[in-house]
Amino acid sequence: MPKTSGSKPSARGGPSPHLTKKCPECFTYLPLAAEVCHACGRPVGPVTATGLARKPFNWKAYLAAAAAAAAFAAFVWWGFFSD
Ligand SMILES: [Zn+2]
Repeated sequence: MPKTSGSKPSARGGPSPHLTKKCPECFTYLPLAAEVCHACGRPVGPVTATGLARKPFNWKAYLAAAAAAAAFAAFVWWGFFSD
C-alpha cells in the first residue's frame, strides 16, 4: 500500500482548523474560548468557517427594538383614535 508523500498534515478530528477567532466588531484576534472581546467588550460567539467569531443573539437589543415598535404602534393608535 503506497503511502502518499506530502507536507499536508492529516485531517484533524477537531471541529475547526482555527486556533484563534476574530472579533466581528473590531477584528481583534481572540482565543477560541473567549466569550467577550477583550478589546471592545462585545460578546462573541463560536468561530465560523471564515475565522470570525459569530455574533451572539442580542436579546437586549431585540427587546429594545420590540419595545420601541410597540411604543410607536401605541403612539400611532393614540394619534388616530383618541381624537
Ligand atoms: Zn472586539
